[in-house]
Amino acid sequence: MKINQLQTPCYVIDEKKMRENLEILKKVQEDTGCKILLAQKAFSGFALYPMIGKYLAGTTASGLFEARLGYEEMGKENHVFSPAYRTEDIEELDRICDHIIFNSTAQLKKFKEVCTGASLGLRINPECSTQGDHAIYDPCAPGSRLGVTRENFDGECLKWIDGLHFHTLCEQNADDLEKTLQAVEEKFGEFLSEVSWLNMGGGHHITREDYNVKLLEKCIQHMKETYDLDIYLEPGEAVALNAGYLVTEVMDIVENEIRTLILDASAACHMPDVLEMPYRPPLKDSGEAGEKAYTYRLSSCTCLAGDVIGDYSFDREIQIGDKLYFMDMAIYSMVKNNTFNGMPLPDIAVMHEDGECEVIRHFGYEDFKSRLS
Ligand SMILES: *Cc1c(COP(=O)(O)O)cnc(C)c1O
Repeated sequence: MKINQLQTPCYVIDEKKMRENLEILKKVQEDTGCKILLAQKAFSGFALYPMIGKYLAGTTASGLFEARLGYEEMGKENHVFSPAYRTEDIEELDRICDHIIFNSTAQLKKFKEVCTGASLGLRINPECSTQGDHAIYDPCAPGSRLGVTRENFDGECLKWIDGLHFHTLCEQNADDLEKTLQAVEEKFGEFLSEVSWLNMGGGHHITREDYNVKLLEKCIQHMKETYDLDIYLEPGEAVALNAGYLVTEVMDIVENEIRTLILDASAACHMPDVLEMPYRPPLKDSGEAGEKAYTYRLSSCTCLAGDVIGDYSFDREIQIGDKLYFMDMAIYSMVKNNTFNGMPLPDIAVMHEDGECEVIRHFGYEDFKSRLS
């Protein structure tokens, strides 16, 4: 079926666009010999894992559930990082993961004996903030719980680990990676020759149009050659950037100084980053408020007054029943869904490379009820 025939609300994963992203990432792997993993935190659309697995080295996870998903559905290299692991989970993680990365020396010491299969690593905090004003996404912010600072890094732990990991970026270009690597070398340089791998985390916006791939490759080569390291990157966003849409229908139009479209999609339930980050998601065929002839506020069916997606303008007057298409909705969307207010979860569809859409998951009342008791 065509995208405009889908029952709404519905996420649509764009296979063609995802393949284009994967081609770019594959080229970075080929040029540099690094390995790139899908960070499932951003995108866990496992129906696409067979395709992603043809291009990338594997998956990375934030805990047991994502690790299981990567193991079951992609079955390639599988890594995990968590601020803390449960004793009950660690044996299974050791069985299904190739790399286990710890967030503290205490966690490493607690579990190093149980982990007999996986290669162990420690997350470091280079204390180099490059993100400006997004403190909630900055693992280098003062007081951060994420990663061991140089002051707290005990060289003794090198006896038990094969690698170091850092993750400090979010939607950033390679110049910020270069800056971060300078801090990593300055603070942890003496240890880099004593490990065999370095994982440079996610947040590399590699598939964005203005991304400096050449500089990324230079950074990778430099670390690889200077310290004789295997290099890993684990982007989430870059894999599925611009590779998905959220299709919604206009259910009503209410008037109170501004005209508000009541949609069957919600910021709070279906695109929580809009409120959390916050940001204004791109919408097909629209402009800024006032830019085109007809301006509306886009909102939803929840009771939350602030469940507002943003103000947008259109060339034509919007009618009840019209479909609207939010762009860049594959990342941090499906993985963050909730059923607050009893809102239905959007279906999940795939748009195949010939433009045909196929619904691969339908959600209903049982999905709402089964998470409550
Ligand atoms: C969030 C996260 C990623 C992926 O980040 P993106 O911004 O989606 O590329 C990778 N590694 C770790 C440890 C993360 O927390």
